[in-house]
Amino acid sequence: MKKKITVLPGDGIGPEVSRGAVEILKAVGERFNHQFDFIYSLIGGAAIEQTGSPLPDKTLNDCKQSDAVLLGAVGGPQWDQNPPELRPEKGLLQIRKELELYANLRPVSFNPSLIESSPIKENIITGVDLLIVRELTGGLYFGKPSARTIDRGEESVVDTLYYKRKEMKRILVTAFELAKNRRSKVTSVDKANVLESSRMWREVAEEVARDFPNVQLEHMLVDNAAMQLIKNPTQFDVIVTENMFGDILSDEASMLTGSLGMLPSASLSTTGPCLYEPIHGSAPDIAGQNKANPVAMILSAAMMLRNSFQMDEEAKAIENAVNQVLAAGHRTPDVVQEGKRAVKTEEMVERIKAAVLDHAAISNIMSIYA
Ligand code: NAD
Repeated sequence: MKKKITVLPGDGIGPEVSRGAVEILKAVGERFNHQFDFIYSLIGGAAIEQTGSPLPDKTLNDCKQSDAVLLGAVGGPQWDQNPPELRPEKGLLQIRKELELYANLRPVSFNPSLIESSPIKENIITGVDLLIVRELTGGLYFGKPSARTIDRGEESVVDTLYYKRKEMKRILVTAFELAKNRRSKVTSVDKANVLESSRMWREVAEEVARDFPNVQLEHMLVDNAAMQLIKNPTQFDVIVTENMFGDILSDEASMLTGSLGMLPSASLSTTGPCLYEPIHGSAPDIAGQNKANPVAMILSAAMMLRNSFQMDEEAKAIENAVNQVLAAGHRTPDVVQEGKRAVKTEEMVERIKAAVLDHAAISNIMSIYA
C-alpha cells in the first residue's frame, strides 16, 4: 500500500518523538512492503517563528491532502506572553476545527511491565482497560465570547461553554459504537447538578442509548469520576465526556500507566484525514535532552495504521515491539525503575525498531547498547 502522511513535529519534545515514530513507520514499511510518504509541515511555536502564524495555510493544505496526520506537540514558555491569536495552542485548536476532529480517543490499558512505574497500587491498576472518548471541537475551548473586559470599572473575564445538540449526539453515538466492540458499557461524565450544558448532555445520552439496547449507560458526575479513576479504574469501559472534562480526566488516567509519555490518542474526523498524537504536551523541561519517552508517539502511529489504513497486523507489530522492549526492562527516565539505567529517547526508538524488524536485529542492538 502507498500512503501519504503529514508529520507536524511542533515544539519542545515534539520533533524528538515524531522522529522516533517516523523511524518506526519506516521499519513497518520495510517489513510489510508498504510505501509511506512523509510530508513535513509547521505548527505551533515553530510555525509562529517561521511564518508568523501558528497554523499556516500550507500546513492545512498538506493535512487535507494526506491520508493521515501525525502531530508531536506544541507550546513552550517563550510564547506564553503572546496574544491569544499568536499562541502555539491556537494552532492546535484551529487544526481540530478545520479538520473537524470531533472525537479524541484515548485508550488506557494496564501493562504488567510498568506496574512499578505507576503511583497507584498494583491491585487497583491490574486489569485496567478503558477508553476515554473526549469531545474535541466544542465546549469552553471554542465558545465565544472568551475575553477580558472592564465591567463597571472592575476587571472581569468570560469564557463560554457552548454546544449544539447535534455535536453532543455525534460524540455520544461514537462512544456507543465503540463500546459495542468492547465490554458494552458507557460511562457518560458530566456536571449535571450544576451546569445546564451537562443537563442537556445527559438528556442526549439517554436518547442515544435507546438505539443501543445492548450497551449499558451510566451517568457520573465529573468530580466523582476523577475520584473513581483512582479508586476503582477497572469499573470503566468507555468514558465519554465533553472537551475540558476529557482533557483533565485523560491526563489523570495516564498516571494509571505510569507516565504521560505512554499514552497515544486518535482524533477522528467525519470529513477528512484523522490525526494521531500523544496525549502529552511539549515538555519544555526535558526538550532537546534525548530524555523524552517516545512510546506515546509511537503507539499513536500504531493507532493510525489500524484506524486510518486498516493495517491491523502492522499496528500489532508495533504494539508487540513496544511491549517486548518494556518487558526486557528498557525505560526512559519518566518510567525507569529505581536504581536501573535509564535509556535515552534514541536508544528506545532503536530498540523498538529492531523489535519491529526482527529478532536478529534485536541481538545486534543489544550488543551495541550493552
Ligand atoms: P506536558 O505534557 O508537556 O508535561 C507535563 C510533565 O510530563 C512534564 O514534567 C514533562 O517532562 C512530562 N512529560 C510529558 N511528556 C513526556 C514524555 N513523552 N516523556 C517523558 N516525560 C514527559 O504538560 P505541561 O508541562 O503542562 O505543558 C507544556 C507545554 O505543552 C505547554 O505550552 C502546553 O500548552 C503544551 N501542551 C501541548 C499539548 C499538545 O500539543 N497536544 C498538550 C498539553 C500541553
